[in-house]
Amino acid sequence: MTEVEVPESHPRYESLLTRHRIEAGVEKGITSRQGLIAQGRGEAYDYLLGERTIPSADEAERAAAAQFLLADQAVVSVNGNVAALCPGEVVVLAEVTGADIEVNLFNRTEERMERIADHLREHGARDVLGLAADGRIPGLDHERAKVDADGIGSADTVLVPLEDGDRAEALAEMGKTEIVVDLNPMSRSAQSASIPIVDNVMRAVPNMTEHARSLEDASEQELRDIVAAFDREAALAAAEDAIRSGDLG
Ligand code: ATP
Ligand code: MG
Repeated sequence: MTEVEVPESHPRYESLLTRHRIEAGVEKGITSRQGLIAQGRGEAYDYLLGERTIPSADEAERAAAAQFLLADQAVVSVNGNVAALCPGEVVVLAEVTGADIEVNLFNRTEERMERIADHLREHGARDVLGLAADGRIPGLDHERAKVDADGIGSADTVLVPLEDGDRAEALAEMGKTEIVVDLNPMSRSAQSASIPIVDNVMRAVPNMTEHARSLEDASEQELRDIVAAFDREAALAAAEDAIRSGDLG
């Protein structure tokens, strides 16, 4: 990937870098062309949020980190956009929190599954789940229901960045503690999450890791208190308010 072509001083550096990564992901066969459209939608919301982690998102990221540390089994679900945007950051988050990584695609093809798994391994992942596909999410059609039985299938906590609304709802109905990263607080994915993180996945994942590191020595009770204090309705309302008020300062 040639990321040097965009000068860091460019006022829209982050946004251009993001586009470049998605484009490279499509070229590499890890991101679908539909992923380009999803990226465009996300970018519009990010623009309105001021391309920053708003305070309510930072709180959500801290609660998500606490939830990951409390989990019996946490899984980070990775799709083609996430693999293109922040593969190394996903690997570090999984390492720091002891979580598993599972590839999970809306438009599932074995070829793309393999490519994403390879790409994650190139970025330091040891085990990548998702290829066994021996588990099912109830209530979804065959291809989209596929998960690994010993991954998302058995996990009590799942982080699903940029998940599609249907599957996010179905996972929540399975009783899992679901953490969603989505720049649109009105999307069904964000609305169905126990912990909705309204932030760019490129900022959200490393910030969750930072929080997990600083909570390393926290007691179980402290972690439980952090999760309990998180108010999902308030977080969604704060994000929507930030977008509607359009304060780009
Ligand atoms: P719904 O959730 O309402 O069913 P959808 O999931 O079908 O909608 P898509 O366009 O498929 O809608 O999903 C893309 C979602 O991912 C959008 O809500 C968009 O804001 C979000 N998104 C795209 N890029 C990013 C990113 N880099 N970080 C965080 N969220 C993103
Ligand atoms: Mg969605």
